[in-house]
Amino acid sequence: MAKKAKKKPARKKSKAKAVKRPAAKKTKAVSSKVVVSVPPIYVPVAGAGEQFQVRRIYCIGRNYAAHAREMGSDPDREPPFFFLKPTDAIQVVMPGKLANHPYPSLTKNYQYEVELVAALKSGGKSIKAADALKHIYGYAVGLDMTRRDLQIGMREQKKPWDIGKSADHGAPIGPLHKVAQTGHFTKGAISLSVNGEVKQTSDLTHMIWSVAEQIEKLSEAFELKAGDLIYSGTPENVGPVQKGDLLVCKIKGLPDLSLKIV
Ligand code: MN
Repeated sequence: MAKKAKKKPARKKSKAKAVKRPAAKKTKAVSSKVVVSVPPIYVPVAGAGEQFQVRRIYCIGRNYAAHAREMGSDPDREPPFFFLKPTDAIQVVMPGKLANHPYPSLTKNYQYEVELVAALKSGGKSIKAADALKHIYGYAVGLDMTRRDLQIGMREQKKPWDIGKSADHGAPIGPLHKVAQTGHFTKGAISLSVNGEVKQTSDLTHMIWSVAEQIEKLSEAFELKAGDLIYSGTPENVGPVQKGDLLVCKIKGLPDLSLKIV
């Protein structure tokens, strides 16, 4: 910002211009004091003392065949679909910490979905899968926490299921690991355990749509931008949590993410 300001010295306002656009000038003269300000949302970058600002959270649904089947759909026929979570659903969980995750309101069936998260440093429209990986800044372990009873209830009523997916704190995430240091995550074990018992276990190679393909599909629908996170879908054996449960999420090559449901 400061650099830009230096490059562009303030232009002298010509009187002729002001006469041409008196109405516009009047409007611009009104001060735009911010009366309600909202803190930006950041995810820390591992090891660097740096922060990544989050613009949007995209999530992909049913991206592992066995999970698509357990959710009652046919993975062979369905193209990928997407939904969004509110940015402030982010709950940063640092490695080596056991974060308290509040059990949300209204649900009696709150479920875990462990997912690889890709973070974008740039974006665009109609990005081809072959060019997609260059837009990725880094990766993290994430959880797409879901009020399953509300999600399915709304789905059955053919209503939007945001209430199932957008609970406060519903997007836990570990620190981002830069591609420059870790490479891309196209394979490797992904798992989640509850109270020491492995519940979800799979491999990133079992994704129906790779992260690069997700970026291609997403960018047909939206202009992707720096700051976007993509939760890339969960493997099978999602299930409910109870207060007091200890969740440990693992993706090979990233530090564990640990939560306690409170
Ligand atoms: Mn999910």
